[in-house]
This record gives sequence, structure tokens and C-alpha cells, in this order.
Amino acid sequence: MTTHRITDPRTAALHAATADQTWDLLVIGGGASGLGTAVEAATRGYSVLLLESHDYAKGTSSRSTKLVHGGVRYLAQGNVSLVREALHERGLLKQNAPHLVHDLGFLIAAYKWWAAPFYGIGLKMYDLLAGKLNLKASRYVNRAQALERTPTLKKAALKGGILYFDGQFDDARLAITLLRTLEDHGGVALNHAPVVGLIKDGGRVTGARFRDLETGQEHAVRARAVVNATGVFVDDVRRMENPAVKPMLSPSQGVHVVVDRRFLPGDSAVMVPRTDDGRVLFAVPWHDHVVIGTTDTPLPETNVEPRALPEEVEFILKTAAQYLDPAPTRADVRSVYAGLRPLVKAAEGTDTKSLSRDHVIRISDGGLITLTGGKWTTYRRMGEDTVNRAAAQAGLPQRLSLTAGLKLHGAAAPDTHLADHWQVYGTDAAHIRALPGADTPLHPELPYTEAEVRWAARAEQARTAEDVLSRRLRALLLNARASIEAAPRVVAILAEELGRDAAWEAAQVQTYTELAGGYVLN
Ligand SMILES: Cc1cc2nc3c(=O)[nH]c(=O)nc-3n(C[C@H](O)[C@H](O)[C@H](O)COP(=O)(O)OP(=O)(O)OC[C@H]3O[C@@H](n4cnc5c(N)ncnc54)[C@H](O)[C@@H]3O)c2cc1C
Repeated sequence: MTTHRITDPRTAALHAATADQTWDLLVIGGGASGLGTAVEAATRGYSVLLLESHDYAKGTSSRSTKLVHGGVRYLAQGNVSLVREALHERGLLKQNAPHLVHDLGFLIAAYKWWAAPFYGIGLKMYDLLAGKLNLKASRYVNRAQALERTPTLKKAALKGGILYFDGQFDDARLAITLLRTLEDHGGVALNHAPVVGLIKDGGRVTGARFRDLETGQEHAVRARAVVNATGVFVDDVRRMENPAVKPMLSPSQGVHVVVDRRFLPGDSAVMVPRTDDGRVLFAVPWHDHVVIGTTDTPLPETNVEPRALPEEVEFILKTAAQYLDPAPTRADVRSVYAGLRPLVKAAEGTDTKSLSRDHVIRISDGGLITLTGGKWTTYRRMGEDTVNRAAAQAGLPQRLSLTAGLKLHGAAAPDTHLADHWQVYGTDAAHIRALPGADTPLHPELPYTEAEVRWAARAEQARTAEDVLSRRLRALLLNARASIEAAPRVVAILAEELGRDAAWEAAQVQTYTELAGGYVLN
């Protein structure tokens, strides 16, 4: 039986990307910034092509703390306008992607008498800044209520705490949802297609050359505006225009560990407002596991596969042990992942904790538009600002933004709740459940089914084991070892769907096993 699809979505995208046309916008980079910009452009009726070197959300956008938040920490730093904007975007995203975002209670445990009133006042301000899009109001909880919500909190000297609400989401699934939304509105996006050079005419950037990694062939594309949204790699693309340009980023790494849900049962997350190094730390229930992080470690260089340093893991576990009982140890870690923050450089000697978390749009002399900084929560606003600038720069007809009210692909009625992991697919879940293998689990320790692998290949441009196991499904982050064990079956299904041979299968399993080994701690 051959189920190979002749018109899989990536092949269709490659045809469109190599057709003879001048795009209104070319977006380089398929993370939150690039996808947000591309969706913004397509919904305004501009023609748009997005090129991604690896896969959507391969970079920082699959490695976040999974919060749609205003940033309590930025409020403490006095950055009120940033927090207000992010809280507004939090409310919009919840309305527009109810299948991907839900409210979550965060408990700040108080072990000193002054802690609850102190944090309580700040969080009232947080509630107020959210305006009419606020989630539930923050409130004081006594010791018994705190323990009811979070039974594993350390009990000695616990006075009570403050409970506040923020949003939680699945970052890579939001990226894939934006890809589908882009396609729904006539935009084109191609993964495994790195931009390797920019095309210039008389000093103006008018396009780019990209390599299709599946054939090795290079292609040229032309565009009226070119947006560089390559995350921590923006300086590499800026150097393609001008090799002498000064770097604008100062990357810093953030690490998370993932452990079993038994370390944080109950329905709340825990927020530690001040760790020993002056940061915040979260322990957040996510897909029936717990994500704990993060760190802030300045790095001299960027890497597509950043790796946690031993001291970062140690710091997270040590801090968690100050609040949780039982506390997870190294042996309990199911996966450890690291992400790089594209922080915009400040003056010499500034430490990265205080660098700008605001987004920055910079336009070069040749017209290359670089978008960086910001956060997932504000991706829509970043896209809106970038398309405004790009339209003006390229002389495109000015058109109003529609994305504040745009329902994203798969958005179901807000009160529709599908069981467990099917929720993230929204209205697509019914189609996936009709595919072969909807009742066949991929692995006893993972929630996923074989049907989802077929869907990933047929509808979501998945091409490799990693595309499936890391970003269409979240197996790599939830349980790296189980994901390695599931890889051969995933690869066999992909081979069937995409028409690949046994040599491809063997190479895929090996490549994935090596990559996922970097997420296993023990
Ligand atoms: C540890 C950590 C935790 C975070 N937690 C949160 C959170 O809880 N909530 C929140 O709102 N925000 C959070 N953030 C911030 C948020 O994740 C980032 O701001 C956002 O993901 C950045 O997206 P981006 O598109 O700019 O970069 P990226 O996601 O890195 O995307 C850039 C893309 O460009 C591609 N690329 C690179 N070079 C090329 C090329 N030459 N050609 C084509 N493509 C190329 C890369 O492969 C990559 O996919 C967190 C960040 C970190 C580091």
C-alpha cells in the first residue's frame, strides 16, 4: 500500500516559493516574530513568503516557560507600559486561540509575615493594568488554602500566599497554528529552507537566496520588503547585507527542567519572586508534567541547539528544593531544554537581566527590516508594528490591521474542552481522530497517537522525526528518553507518508537519537 502524498504541504509551498513573482514581503525566520509578521501581512492582503532554515519554532519559540503573561517581574522593574501592552495581548490571544491558551493560577508562597501584603499590592496593580481583559482577580490565600492548591509546598513556616492569574500555552503548537493561519489566508511558508544570502539592487535589499535542504538546490526570491526575524541569528543576516555591521544582540540562555506531575499536583503553578540570584523561578504544570525554570546565563555565541550548563540545572533543582517537598532530584528529570533570549544590547557592563525585553525594529540603509526582542505573548503586536513599517518602507498601500480580532486556525468555541492532549488541535482534532492509528499510542509513557504523526506530515509540514517529536508533538520536552524509543515508529510512519526509503529511515532514527540525547540528564 502506498500512501505517499504527491501534494504534501511543503512540496506545494516549495512550488509557490520558486514561482516567478515579486512578493510584497519576504520574512526570514519562522519563530514567533516571523510567523506573527507573516500572518499580519497575509491578513492585510499583502503577498508574503516566509523562509525558515530548520523548522517552525526550532529556535527560542519552542523553548519558553509556556506563559502568556504580562511579566510580573517587569512590573517590579517599573516597566509599566511593557506590562500593560503584554496584558492586553494576553487577553487578545486567549480570545483568538482558546484551544491553545488557558488561565492558570500562580501561587506566591509567603514564609515571612510581610510577604503576602508586599506581593499582594503589586499584583493588584497587575490586575488593574489588564483592564477589561483581566483574568480572575488576584487574592490572598491562607495556609490551608495554599496547601490545598499546592499540596507539595514546604510546610514549615508557611504563612499563606498570594494567588494571581496568568495565561498558559503551548509555544510550538501556537507556531504551527500560526503557520496554518498564514496558509488559510493565502500566505506561503517553507521550512528547511535557510536564507544564505541577500539580493541587492543599487544598494537596496530586494530579495534573498535560499537553499532547499531536501534537494540542495538554491533559489532566488524577490520582494518589495525583506524582514529579518531570525531571533538570536539576526546579526548573521544583517552581516549578509553589510559584513561590517556591529552586532545588536547580547544573547542569554534560559534553561528549564521537566519532571513528573507528582512534584506539583493540584491546579496551580508556583512562582518564586526572588531567587538567590535575584530572578524569578516558575514551576508550572504543563501537559501532565511540570516545567521548572528558568536561568539567565549570558553566552558569548549562538547555537541552534543550546545545551544546559550543569550549574544551571543545579541552580533550578536547588531553588525548587527550597519550596517543594518532596523536591525533584537529577534522577527525576525527564527532559532538560535550553533557549536563547534575543536581548538587545545595551551599554558595556550592563547585566543581561536588565536588558530590554521590549521588541526592537531596526531598518538598515539598504532597507532590511530587522525585528527582534519582545516575547511570545506580544508576537501579534510585534507583527503589526513590523508590517506598518514594512508597508511604509516598500510603498505598499496602507491597510488596517485585522489581527486583534482574528481567530487563529482551529479556534473552537471558548468553552469547548477536548480531553487531554487533543485540546491543542481545536477543530482539527476531529479530522485527526478519523485517521488510521487514532487509537494506537506511540509510547506507553507519552499521550500521543500514530494518527497525529500522519496528520503532522499531511497537514503541518513535518519532515523529520525531530519536527514531529519536538514541535508537532511535545514528546522531546516531556520525556526525552521515551521520545527516543518512539522515534523508529514515528520515522516509519513519516516514510510511508512522504515516500522515503529505508536508508532515510535509518539516518533519521540516528540523527534524532543523537539530538534527543542532549535533553536526557542522566
Ligand atoms: C528561556 C526563555 C523563556 C521564555 N519564556 C517566555 C514565556 O513564558 N512567555 C513569553 O511570552 N515569552 C517567553 N520567552 C520569549 C520568547 O520565547 C521569545 O521572545 C520568542 O520565542 C522569540 O521568537 P523569535 O521568532 O524572535 O526567535 P526564534 O524563535 O529563535 O525564531 C527565529 C527563527 O529564525 C530561524 N533562522 C535563523 N537563521 C535563519 C536563516 N538564515 N534563514 C531562515 N531562517 C533562519 C531559526 O531557525 C528560528 O526558527 C522566553 C524566552 C526564553 C529564552
